Amino acid sequence: MNERSFDEYHLSDEIKRALDVLKYENPTEVQIEVIPRALENQDLVVKSQTGSGKTASFGIPICENIEWEEKKPQALILTPTRELAAQVREDITNIGRFKRIKAMAVYGKEPFSKQREELKQKTHVVVGTPGRVIDHIERETLVLDNIKYLIIDEADEMLNMGFINKVETILKELPTNRVTMVFSATLPKDVETLCHKYMIEPKNIEIASTGITTDTIEHGLFEVREEGKIPLLKDITVVENPDSCIIFCNTKEHVNTVYNELEESGYSCEKLHGGLEQESRFAVMDGFKMGNFRYLIATDVAARGIDIDNVSLIINYDIPMEKESYVHRTGRTGRAGKEGKALTFETPHDGKYLKAIERYIGFEIPTVEAPKRHEVIKGQAAFDEKISGRRVVRNNKTARINQDILKLHFSGGKKKKIRAVDLVGTIANIPGVTAEDIGIITIQDSLSYVDILNGKGSVVLQAMETTTIKGKKLKVTPAIK
Ligand code: AMP
Repeated sequence: MNERSFDEYHLSDEIKRALDVLKYENPTEVQIEVIPRALENQDLVVKSQTGSGKTASFGIPICENIEWEEKKPQALILTPTRELAAQVREDITNIGRFKRIKAMAVYGKEPFSKQREELKQKTHVVVGTPGRVIDHIERETLVLDNIKYLIIDEADEMLNMGFINKVETILKELPTNRVTMVFSATLPKDVETLCHKYMIEPKNIEIASTGITTDTIEHGLFEVREEGKIPLLKDITVVENPDSCIIFCNTKEHVNTVYNELEESGYSCEKLHGGLEQESRFAVMDGFKMGNFRYLIATDVAARGIDIDNVSLIINYDIPMEKESYVHRTGRTGRAGKEGKALTFETPHDGKYLKAIERYIGFEIPTVEAPKRHEVIKGQAAFDEKISGRRVVRNNKTARINQDILKLHFSGGKKKKIRAVDLVGTIANIPGVTAEDIGIITIQDSLSYVDILNGKGSVVLQAMETTTIKGKKLKVTPAIK
């Protein structure tokens, strides 16, 4: 264990208080390297994986150095995906909570006008995907005059997704007396070239650990034929009986198949793929974070950069076709020192993908045998008991930091076919309210409870007087505790 402490950085009391609530006791390796240099405004190129604590490594110095009185944005953070933008915004908001740092996310598929209105207010940090950031720059709704920090997060993924030219366009628009930090799991040539062109004597930092470890993650490989995957999946889940589990598939068709199978067998599960509306994607992510269900079946959209506390089991129902994807998927478990398991299904056609993955991660994934009949029978009772209970999330950082919560009672539930997604969709549509203001949702037969965070309870209560859910008018009242 490292004995370093955040005290070395002489952070302000507001930031220290947030780190305390977030339970960040000691800086991680990337934070030890990045924080002091970023506080001194040095340009940095950082090679590190997701899960290493990299977001806080730039989030802490940015929040510390921001001038609260200044109305125009002072930091711009570019991310390759909307989910990551939302995640980074949440992390920055948490770190800057007691300094009242306002961070907002801008990305496509969300009304431009809503973001434009928000950008008119005081905004300290803007987190966004390159395309939408350019839209805002071109339409002069995002003012860059005062940007002092530019962060390019997951630069290699920007390149993979064809965004690197857009990043360059943005770089050309920014004030030159800024600090630039680039974070990337790998450093492809094009990324390096970009760094040389637009950064001032950047310091290279390389965090040795790849984020893929055999210390905290146990890896295993099952050889199986395509048609044997579903029965194997069910047997594994019974024997492993995880508190939380993500099942990764390569296509949305497979996600649907697995979801339907598990749902029919009574698993508490939801699905996530790119074909779903953005709102429902966020609702599902939030529901998983909050512990509303135990099994998430997803394509890779869910794998990148998403910070879900403590997923205990990852199953690669389909072997990832891109080697990097294996690292990102399995990086959802074994986080921040906790233990996790990553199990991969390999069909006879998957050999070349497996070889590429093993070369990339630097070790062979050990083959394990499918659970035996008697093991499944032995585990069944404990499995049935867990699946009928609700997941308990002990460590939700955002919930801890947002203590002003109002629990609302809705006069409808399962019998009216109300689902968490419907409640979130409706509530997040209320002006001034976002999916992040919605906490734990409990749906019973004829009533539901929704926690409204961030002091937005009264806004929701008022709006629900005239709003329907799935076309139904429900009575909404503060819940009696
Ligand atoms: P990231 O690499 O930014 O995705 O962060 C990985 C996880 O580590 C997230 O759940 C962070 O909230 C958590 N984390 C970041 N810094 C620390 C720290 N110093 N101590 C404990 N957990 C941390």
